[in-house]
Amino acid sequence: MAYWEENVRKVEPYVPGEQPKVKNIIKLNTNENPYGPSPKVSKAVFDFDSLRKYPDPAVTLLVEKLAEYHNTTKDRVFVGVGSDDVIAMAFMTFFNSDKPVLFPDITYSFYPVWANMLGIKYETIPVDKDFNIIKEDYYRENGGIIFPNPNAPTSKLVSRDFIIDILKANKDSVVIIDEAYIDFAKEGSSIIDLTEEYENLLCVRTFSKSRSLAGMRIGYAVGNAKLIKYMNDVKYSYNSYTMNTPSILYGVASVEDDAYFKETVKKIVDTREKFVKEIESMGFIVLPSAANFVFAKYPGRDAVDIFDEAKKNGIYFRYFDQDRIRDYLRITIGTDEEMDKVIDFFKSYL
Ligand SMILES: *Cc1c(COP(=O)(O)O)cnc(C)c1O
Repeated sequence: MAYWEENVRKVEPYVPGEQPKVKNIIKLNTNENPYGPSPKVSKAVFDFDSLRKYPDPAVTLLVEKLAEYHNTTKDRVFVGVGSDDVIAMAFMTFFNSDKPVLFPDITYSFYPVWANMLGIKYETIPVDKDFNIIKEDYYRENGGIIFPNPNAPTSKLVSRDFIIDILKANKDSVVIIDEAYIDFAKEGSSIIDLTEEYENLLCVRTFSKSRSLAGMRIGYAVGNAKLIKYMNDVKYSYNSYTMNTPSILYGVASVEDDAYFKETVKKIVDTREKFVKEIESMGFIVLPSAANFVFAKYPGRDAVDIFDEAKKNGIYFRYFDQDRIRDYLRITIGTDEEMDKVIDFFKSYL
């Protein structure tokens, strides 16, 4: 190895789901939204000439729009380039203790990647045999806590009371709840309002799933004004201009069209319920889902075999070659039509 190479920071990167180049596939592998963004987003105009100027580093238009949407103030909102950017900033800002950050063993696989890259000590806490997070496991000294609700890739939701109990037991570290899929859960599941009461709670959201804007890269966090200020200080020490001008305006237009948002989320939830019933009747075991995907296995069949065979038929699922979840497939909910084709495939495969 050349000397310079010895001094390279070597990291093991996160592996995102495949984005196949082939057309006419049924793509249910990365939890994208089948319905596309609100048509109003395409009408959001920005003066092309304005692109010669730097964007607003404070992302004021979108921060204010989100503050209004969540009935809060703009000093309590942080916007970033997808929630991946927001969470990475939060790791940098809040996880600086000698004590380990805690998260479940089965969860979003980006968390250990950020921790490793940033030299943050962490410990994974096993979920139980039914993939439930056990709250008492988090009643101990730690340098921070993070998990998604609903969890990924299990799709399982914990209640607000469950999170309140974790918050009561953890006043000394920052608790981050990653609500990437919360819009697909039953109403009243979000803890975003609890950020008023708990100054160490950060709630992270994304436009990638329920708002169908994965390609635009918009995410945000809501929390106590002090938390948000600390995050902005880190952001401005790293890259002031993270959000480009078009994404700011597209983001605003998306939030303004609440009717479209609610309608498409409802369609996906309805399709999910129908799909789960159908595949359960075929013998699949499906975890109770509060997300826009399901986590399912078929007893007696290798998930990887179903995965490979589906791919040959132009249907893409996500398979994790990982302890404890090797038997499962993660299937994104598409349109009714797409899910009917999945069911047809399962019928012929089985
Ligand atoms: C998709 C996802 C994210 C990241 O979404 P962005 O596209 O970066 O906004 C964050 N957390 C979880 C659990 C996710 O599934």
